[in-house]
Amino acid sequence: MTPASWYIHVPFCASVCPYCDFFRTVPSAARIEQWLDVVGAEIRSRLEPDTKIDTLYIGGGTPSVLSDSQFFRLVKDLLPHLHAQSEVTVECNPESLSAQKLAMYRQCKVNRISLGVQSFNAKTIEKLGRHHTPALIEQAVEAIKEAGIDNISIDLMFAVPGQSMADVQADLARFFRLDIAHLSIYSLILEEGSVFGRQGLQAVDEDLEADEYEWIVQTMKAHGYCHYEISSFARDGKLSRHNLAYWLDQDFVGIGCGASGRENRRRYTNAPDLLEYIEKGPRPEYEPVNAPFEAVMMGLRTCFGVDLASFFEKYGLRLEEMAAPLLAKYDGDLMVERGALKTTESGMEKLNSILVDFLALFE
Ligand code: SF4
Repeated sequence: MTPASWYIHVPFCASVCPYCDFFRTVPSAARIEQWLDVVGAEIRSRLEPDTKIDTLYIGGGTPSVLSDSQFFRLVKDLLPHLHAQSEVTVECNPESLSAQKLAMYRQCKVNRISLGVQSFNAKTIEKLGRHHTPALIEQAVEAIKEAGIDNISIDLMFAVPGQSMADVQADLARFFRLDIAHLSIYSLILEEGSVFGRQGLQAVDEDLEADEYEWIVQTMKAHGYCHYEISSFARDGKLSRHNLAYWLDQDFVGIGCGASGRENRRRYTNAPDLLEYIEKGPRPEYEPVNAPFEAVMMGLRTCFGVDLASFFEKYGLRLEEMAAPLLAKYDGDLMVERGALKTTESGMEKLNSILVDFLALFE
């Protein structure tokens, strides 16, 4: 059966940010049309007449650089497979939104917008090579709400070189003023393939990064947001259902060049080169994955943890017995609660070390 969660990767951006090493490129109109031909064929090849899509996530890249007609072409074959409760998310940059585009999104059943904000501080925004202004962010959020979309997420970055704790605190204060239900936070990672990585930019002090993370978590919780995943906070029940499919060990369809999917617990990745993808199609490469370990790795990121009964049903392994030595070693960080193996708040901060120990159990 086709999985109920679909991801489409739009590999285009208006310009390339210096910290980014995602697969993306600055497009020409002709290139986008060629890409749409191939991606449309890939979508149709994965659809079956009875496919029901519960979550559709159009990410990138910057999907909002597509024109209205290009976006419609991208999703038109998927629309009959969405239902009234489907969650349909589009990643957008504040500067590429307009009332007209949002109205078109609504017509295409989009009901969730993930807005790439990174910071409300003009200097930090400039350092990150982004092209919006703090005022533009507020206008974009207002326009999304006016279009009738109330499920909005924004991304904020911390641990950016030159950014102080006071800057992080000011960013969060601006977030609260927007009155939106979902926040994702990321520390700046200096990827080798990014411009920052090649420039040898110095990462911020680890202690400051940890202090910023802890302060954000505590402050979000104090404002009534549920810390449901290591980097994600939600209130009013507006958790990202799409991302939960990844974290809670579900299969998903990945469409587009460089996109990954998971089919019968096997991961695949499409050809990452845009020209190759256009000339030769997606050509997914399947790789064996350590599925039980991945289920633990992803589940422990969330407040739901790993459901022990489902884990046994899928993998025939008694996780609570396997994990007994680690429950003792990480007393206070790891626990079994209501039939699930979970990290506590302090455990989320030590997740990397905990996972190294779990990996040894599954090798
Ligand atoms: S960070 Fe986002 S907008 Fe910037 S280049 Fe990467 S994918 Fe594009």
